[in-house]
Amino acid sequence: MNIILLGPPGAGKGTLAEPIKEKFGLEHLSTGDMLRAEIKAGSDVGKQADEYMKAGKLVPDEVVIGAVANRVKSAEKGLMFDGFPRTIEQAEALEKIANIDAVIYMSVPVDVVVDRLCSRKVCPSCGKIYSTKTYNETVCEKCGAEIITRADDKEEIVRDRYEVYVKNTSPLIGYYSEKGVLHTLDSLDFNENVEKVTEILKSV
Ligand code: AMP
Repeated sequence: MNIILLGPPGAGKGTLAEPIKEKFGLEHLSTGDMLRAEIKAGSDVGKQADEYMKAGKLVPDEVVIGAVANRVKSAEKGLMFDGFPRTIEQAEALEKIANIDAVIYMSVPVDVVVDRLCSRKVCPSCGKIYSTKTYNETVCEKCGAEIITRADDKEEIVRDRYEVYVKNTSPLIGYYSEKGVLHTLDSLDFNENVEKVTEILKSV
């Protein structure tokens, strides 16, 4: 089974991915995490992606599609795509290399996105996500690494990222709805969403 988590930055895709990947034995493929790892490693892909990511712009399709295709080829389990596809062109490329069983669309208003991302911290080592509203420690409770604020989680950049989402990514809602694989979550409650996704994935 391959699934997509679709929604604006800050919708909670990464947080939802954790319990779902455990329950269904899926591999979590976050293109944001993948690109940040490429930047850290100083690879060609990382060099091409760096400036776009700092500015909250989309990395060019050909760069992201190439990197995702390699991961898809080497995947040993079903995949849960997070942050990919982000354009119709990416969705069309994905269709050629993987069958998509369900798209989980998380609908979240812009003010919630800004509020969440401006109080978000992440573990650069294991990827665990925290909110400074509920977590006051400086290190990750899972792996002990120092948690950080992402460079692109500044209000101005967050608003730009949301605009990029509306313009380039939101057309995917209609795209997957027409294909009959779209499921919408409109609750902001984490536990409710885990339950709903569990039901959806049991039925596909
Ligand atoms: P994320 O971690 O999903 O919020 O992604 C962080 C940044 O990585 C985005 O703002 C983009 O610059 C870049 N990025 C991640 N996924 C993609 C994608 N599918 N297409 C283009 N750029 C991407």
